[in-house]
Amino acid sequence: MGDVVTMQEDDRAGGREPASWSGAPPRTAGARTTNEEVRQQNLSAVLRLVHTAGAQSRSHIGAVTGLNRSTVTALVTELLELGLVREAEAAPTGRRGRPSLGVAADDAVVALGIRVEADAVSVALVGLGGAVHSRVRHDLSSPPSPRRFAQIASSLVDGMRADIDRHYRLVGAGLAVPGLVDEAGSVLVAPPLGWRREQVAPRLESAIGIPVTAGNDASIGAMAEARFGVGRDAANLLYLHGSLYGVGGGLIFDGTLLRGTSGFAGELGHTVLDPRGARCPCGRRGCLSAEVTPGPLLKLLGRRKLDEDELDIELGVARDPAITAELERQVDLLSLALTNFVNAFAPEVVVLSGYLGVLLAASRERLSDAVHIDPVGAEGRQVRLERARMRSRLMQLAPAEMAFAPLLLDPAGMAPGR
Ligand SMILES: [Zn+2]
Repeated sequence: MGDVVTMQEDDRAGGREPASWSGAPPRTAGARTTNEEVRQQNLSAVLRLVHTAGAQSRSHIGAVTGLNRSTVTALVTELLELGLVREAEAAPTGRRGRPSLGVAADDAVVALGIRVEADAVSVALVGLGGAVHSRVRHDLSSPPSPRRFAQIASSLVDGMRADIDRHYRLVGAGLAVPGLVDEAGSVLVAPPLGWRREQVAPRLESAIGIPVTAGNDASIGAMAEARFGVGRDAANLLYLHGSLYGVGGGLIFDGTLLRGTSGFAGELGHTVLDPRGARCPCGRRGCLSAEVTPGPLLKLLGRRKLDEDELDIELGVARDPAITAELERQVDLLSLALTNFVNAFAPEVVVLSGYLGVLLAASRERLSDAVHIDPVGAEGRQVRLERARMRSRLMQLAPAEMAFAPLLLDPAGMAPGR
């Protein structure tokens, strides 16, 4: 990248890391990298590795990061002193290898993963390394106002506070919102909630007294799936989530979430598939969001609402030709969209979650054909099409990841006090 490095190449983590994440340190071409910056980057590389890939032996950390043995030992010692990792048994790496002593992320370092939806507010206590320690949920009969949401979230967090104070070290909170969120944590628009221009992160922050980072649920879902889910080995990943409220998504390229000039790239749900199709809330007709939606199927099934698992079962046993026809119509439109996306972005993995995961399970062959046969060139043949693995756990982890981001970037600077 044109960096001038003042230390030996061997001292800097450069190996291929097993997971993707956004928030890699900004690099300017030609910028001078100081020893202190190299140390910070290396600490960050080791902590991110044990955070996403679980307990690791020191030798495996060296193999993955490309750092030499004494550098790894020094970095691990520093992370132990900071209380960010602990000694743990590492999984055997070789075929005949025995478990060896290694280090794992210390899951007593925690973040709150908060999620607001039209019908619920939930809060999860998530440890470094991805363990969900506890989770509470408050069901709602109608979408909450921003003020009501802050009150509910605050009382849920209050219920956890004694436990947090006694057993954990909290770094912050992340909030997942079904809408467009800017970098200051303001919601520009969140159609499922009926919110428009709301300073939701500052509002929540003052209600709970904990720093809050907010983001779009589909974008941060893409990040979490890339770090912990089916996209773990892929540098380039396309994630699409479907629900009653439309299709959202995120693109991760070379480990970074694609934001575009507006910060909102990846709004693939508003790709027009049929200019004369169904009206979309965005004002156009025939968007992916408007055409590929559980609404018509729920109507045919005579149900108001079904979760992912229930819909899997209902569609599996449905024999009504009208249901089959609607299912095929939607799968064909989704195939068309996927063909376009694969041609445009050539991802290694396409992860379908929520309602789109249901369509994949119901019609895997039809959808696989679309990404494997239609694409131009040979790229398409290497695309994996996967259903999101983590389902509901993903949306507990994903917002907490935003809160962990500063710590993962600068472990020594951001480690919570003991
Ligand atoms: Zn639209």
